[in-house]
Amino acid sequence: MAEVTPRVSVPPRRISILGATGSVGASTLDLIAHHRSRDSGCFEIEALTAQSRVAELAGLAMRFRPRLAVIGDPSRYGELKAALAGTGIETAAGAMAVEEAALRPADWIMAAIVGTAGLRPAMAALRPGVTLALANKECLVSAGPLFMARVAEAGVRLLPVDSEHNAIFQVFEPANRAAIDRLILTASGGPFRTWTREQMRAATPEQAVAHPRWSMGMKISVDSATLMNKGLELIEAHYLFDMPPSQLDIVVHPQSIVHSLVSYKDGSVLAQMASPDMRTPIAYALGYPQRIEAPAPRLDLIAMGALTFEKADLARFPCLALAEASLKEGGIAPTVLTAANEIAVAAFLKRRLGFLDISHVVEEVMTRCVSGRPLTLTTIEDVLSLDREARSCAEESAKALVS
Ligand code: NAD
Ligand code: MG
Repeated sequence: MAEVTPRVSVPPRRISILGATGSVGASTLDLIAHHRSRDSGCFEIEALTAQSRVAELAGLAMRFRPRLAVIGDPSRYGELKAALAGTGIETAAGAMAVEEAALRPADWIMAAIVGTAGLRPAMAALRPGVTLALANKECLVSAGPLFMARVAEAGVRLLPVDSEHNAIFQVFEPANRAAIDRLILTASGGPFRTWTREQMRAATPEQAVAHPRWSMGMKISVDSATLMNKGLELIEAHYLFDMPPSQLDIVVHPQSIVHSLVSYKDGSVLAQMASPDMRTPIAYALGYPQRIEAPAPRLDLIAMGALTFEKADLARFPCLALAEASLKEGGIAPTVLTAANEIAVAAFLKRRLGFLDISHVVEEVMTRCVSGRPLTLTTIEDVLSLDREARSCAEESAKALVS
């Protein structure tokens, strides 16, 4: 009998997506749909979670048929249950249920919740046999040493999905780690790359989230406008690749084609290039160690024009300077930084704060909560308690700025 050649080389695997209704969640599901259209048996889904967009979650559940759908906001449970009645899909609600979804049997989990809210679910996903595709950078910034210790302890395969870290992962030669000079993260520069501080003072949420290259969730879009995103990514790179701050660089590259680079002692600089489309790094993580098809635009080297690189301007983008300082300080500083930033960005999006106030709030909270406190964070509870403290401090600081 002739051997049957499988139509796709993708192994079937059981997947859960934490943060399925977000931008990264949507790109992940788009890839899964793409592969399922060729092989309906590939990529079965165990769990999908979302925070509040219940109709969207129910729609995704009807389409992708997970075993479990979880809504974080418990007040929306009735709607989810009613929408999925008779489908055989289990439903649950609440923060604990999101965490429990991460504990369900799966061999590939996408951590795509935004903010420190994703920390507990991502930690729950760190179990032997799981490959964790990590998009949620805030959980690493907030609890880096604890997170990476758990990764090592559980023997988890951790694959970075953030495009810069995914690029570095692709060109990072573990056997030549000692020959690495530096990791160079590229930044698009965001929508205000050429704006003066005076122009930024009046920037609206609509202008801040209108990213020139990437289509992303609201919070990361504002972080890209302040360059806090690049600061969080420096900290993320420090933990992921175990590289000291002195070997981490940032270069502004407005075309967003070179996603990051690794510079070696022999003078070689290895870069990963692709169109700015998250389906490429997600496909890398989904297929790893194979490379699988992604329905992302192919790079046209002739059509793309010149690639340019410039220095990041710390004076116009103080959030980047604050993040760099917190990385150098270490300890509790990054935990406080990212918590304060989440509150300040949320207040800006609600028009309670101006764009330039974001860095003022973060700076004030860093001074009040961090200075002279040699606290070590030995448990996740320590991290979450400091996170709460920094958030309430940021709320106070935001209130004081508007009154
Ligand atoms: P998003 O706002 O579009 O989606 C966030 C998801 O998290 C949604 O599904 C939402 O329901 C869920 N969520 C929000 N609050 C929650 C809570 N308290 N509990 C449980 N679930 C909650 O965000 P995004 O742009 O997809 O980004 C997700 C993460 O990936 C962020 O950490 C971001 O920094 C990172 N990331 C995103 C991109 C991108 O292109 N969007 C690129 C690199 C990294
Ligand atoms: Mg990124």
